[in-house]
Amino acid sequence: MDQYVKTVDLYDKQWKALHKLEAIRLVVYLGLLPYSMIVGLILRPFWSRSFSEGLLAGLLALYLMPLVMAQIRLLRFPCPRCAKRFFTNAWFVVGSFDDDCAYCGLKKFANSENKSVPK
Ligand SMILES: [Zn+2]
Repeated sequence: MDQYVKTVDLYDKQWKALHKLEAIRLVVYLGLLPYSMIVGLILRPFWSRSFSEGLLAGLLALYLMPLVMAQIRLLRFPCPRCAKRFFTNAWFVVGSFDDDCAYCGLKKFANSENKSVPK
């Protein structure tokens, strides 16, 4: 009989999703200045006030779309332990930079209590 027990953290999947969302947010945020500079350099020869302002606003909105989507998903991120919203316990949104669950106090990226499951 196989007595092998696989060690699995039950929260791994949720924490990986959280890592991914935070990475998207960080990359988009840090890339905003280089993106703006590149777009500005590309559009500079074609610059005319009426044409470029609308185009710049559209390109900026397009660039920021992943950030907005990631932020919305972060604010709705369910706690792996209690399944309620991890970052807020209010109807309005405060922020998504907390280090523990707003309901049960689970620390961000904490291991689950039950780590071993039979394979
Ligand atoms: Zn919780």
